[in-house]
Amino acid sequence: MRLRDRFPLLAADPKLHYLDSGASSQVPADVLDAVTRFETTQRANVHRGVHRLAEAATAAYEGARDEIARFFGARREEIVFTSGTTAAINLVAHSFGDALAAGDEVVISELEHHSNIVPWQMLRDRRGLKLKVLPVTEEGRIDLGALDGVVTRKTRLIALAHCSNVTGAVVDLARVVAAAKSAGAAVLVDGAQRVPHGPLDIPELGVDFYAFSGHKMYAPHGIGVLWGKRERLEALPPFMGGGDMIRSVTFERTTYAPPPTRFEAGTPNISGAIGLGASCRWMSGLDWPGIVQEEMRLTGRLLGSLAKVPGLRVLGPLGLQQRLGVVSFALGSAHPHDVAQILDRHGVACRGGHHCAEPLMERFGLAGTTRATIAPYSEDADIDALLNGLDEARRLFA
Ligand code: PMP
Repeated sequence: MRLRDRFPLLAADPKLHYLDSGASSQVPADVLDAVTRFETTQRANVHRGVHRLAEAATAAYEGARDEIARFFGARREEIVFTSGTTAAINLVAHSFGDALAAGDEVVISELEHHSNIVPWQMLRDRRGLKLKVLPVTEEGRIDLGALDGVVTRKTRLIALAHCSNVTGAVVDLARVVAAAKSAGAAVLVDGAQRVPHGPLDIPELGVDFYAFSGHKMYAPHGIGVLWGKRERLEALPPFMGGGDMIRSVTFERTTYAPPPTRFEAGTPNISGAIGLGASCRWMSGLDWPGIVQEEMRLTGRLLGSLAKVPGLRVLGPLGLQQRLGVVSFALGSAHPHDVAQILDRHGVACRGGHHCAEPLMERFGLAGTTRATIAPYSEDADIDALLNGLDEARRLFA
């Protein structure tokens, strides 16, 4: 069976060439079934009720946490449910960041998504600390050669994307962790674009925080995870206050529950968490060495074909080393929205724009790019359709 056929939306529309998984992936039947099962047989609020349904809902929600922890080699207390990557980074910017002061430094890079820029700017403005930016190389990678000059004894946190949502470049985290260790700084990784491309042992990375979104890894929207090293999370105060995150409340004093509950105020996205647990279970059953090989073959084919299109410029590494199948390009001076619209006429779903990375666009002197993302369900026909569409776009605009 083609992997594509396990995704009802794709199976129902054979002419659709979905190359926008970097924005949101499609969802397999197994995940949809798990969500429907919860909503039709177990729906209730979690942690509070003693009736049978409430207990079933709590077991399903906490079972999803176990499933996610197992998939990422983590402990269940280290998996904090959030609404996504953005919420996870904001949580750290508050719970960890609010203890920082003037004179402290946070390091990010020029290729970050706005969700790994703006929370740190807001923290800078709240706490008066310094925000430093690692440059990006011509190839579209974070210039780790600059670490020595940028990271100092005042650095408290280095926050970087594991894989760029524009250039597809994968950062060498071992080098980042070594630099952070020597400065006594923590490391936060934005894993939004890494997690859809196969299993990962997060604790093995040696980082302190790892953020990701469910909707890019075959799960529903509005659910994500902040993984935090247990000792780190235990030392942090909560970000948001409310129900469920407390041990006891009086008007004089409130004490907080241990992690992860401390960071999950209010009724969570229960069906979303169950969907994310199901997606981890589904991903565990796939042949990842085979999928990675196929994703890389398709990425290589796409990059090779793009290199032959006159006037087209790829923004990102042209080789396959330390990169994933997130491929951005500019076609002459054609606006990426116009290119994406032509591609749409060929059944190709591609993202066009600045990809929430305006500083990176500025670095390369572009208003935006067109982006195609290779996913496990991508096929040669998707690349063929993209190249046909580009042919037309070039005739019209170039
Ligand atoms: N970081 C990266 C690298 C991303 O690609 C995205 C999604 N485009 C985000 C962060 C934000 O994720 P979300 O909108 O799910 O919070």
